[in-house]
Formats: sequence, C-alpha cells, structure tokens
Amino acid sequence: MTDDAISLQGSSNWRSNLEAMDVPSHISTDSTLSTALRMLIEQGRIDEDIGNRMFSHDSLFALTALANMVKHARFGPNVYFNDNLHVNTTNICVLACRFCAFRKGPRHSDAYELSVEEYIHRIEPYSNSSMRFILLEVSIPLGLSNIMKNCTVKPSLASPLFT
Ligand code: SF4
Repeated sequence: MTDDAISLQGSSNWRSNLEAMDVPSHISTDSTLSTALRMLIEQGRIDEDIGNRMFSHDSLFALTALANMVKHARFGPNVYFNDNLHVNTTNICVLACRFCAFRKGPRHSDAYELSVEEYIHRIEPYSNSSMRFILLEVSIPLGLSNIMKNCTVKPSLASPLFT
C-alpha cells in the first residue's frame, strides 16, 4: 500500500494497490470473480452483468475475499466507524407494537414533537466544527403520528446542516 492521502473513498491509488496484491486461488480460478477483479483494476467498477453474476454466486467466502481485497486496497488495515446522530422528532405513534417502549399516545404526558427550530438546535452543534467530517449520518426516526403525517417540513429538516 502506498503512502498517499486517504479520503472517505480510500486511497486514490487503490486500483494500483489492488493490482499489486496476491490473488487467492478461489478468486483467480473463478471466472466471475477474476473478471470482477480485472474490471475493478482496469475501470474501477464492475458492470451490471458481473454484478448479477456475483449476486447469485454460490460462494460467500470467495465473494468476501474479493471484497476484503478491495477494502485493503482502499483503506489498508484501517477500520472506520460511522458516527450516527439519532434525533427522534416525535414519540407519538398511532400504533402500539408489543415490543415498543418508545411510542406514546398523543395525550400522554411524555408525548412530544420537536418543532423545526428545536430539531435544528439539536443538530446544529455538529454542523460547523471538525465534527462535520466525522458525523456521517443523521437519522430522523419517527413514530406514526397522525399529526406528523401532514407535516411538510420533514424533508427539509437536515438541509441547513449540509448545504
Ligand atoms: S413507534 Fe414504531 S415500533 Fe413503536 S409502536 Fe409505533 S410503529 Fe410500532
């Protein structure tokens, strides 16, 4: 692995890194996986036909071996974890799944719905600091609220963060 800059997509030289790797026999002797490997090295992508053949491939072990090669070509031995921020915009739900300890009826004293301003206030601390490059996902779990189903602001909630 060359000592070049690593981005979220991995090493910019990942195709060269991949080409320089030893190829396990369960990849080199398999026409689908060896074709996939050649395409990745030459084009950086597999085509639809190879993708379909890999989807119905009968060796998960061989598939994961190829995936592991690509992972090492891109990121070496480093492993990254996704920082995920969950902001529940409401706990009001019209259903009552037996396992659920989250939902509340609309008249329950602990029921809540965040306004857009409250939601923005909760996620804003992550928008303009070095955290911006670590926080990769903001989840917006919702109950099935009769009130929220008519809400038109949901798709725009996160836009102030990432525009
Ligand atoms: S919040 Fe989800 S899991 Fe809980 S009762 Fe509603 S639908 Fe079911």
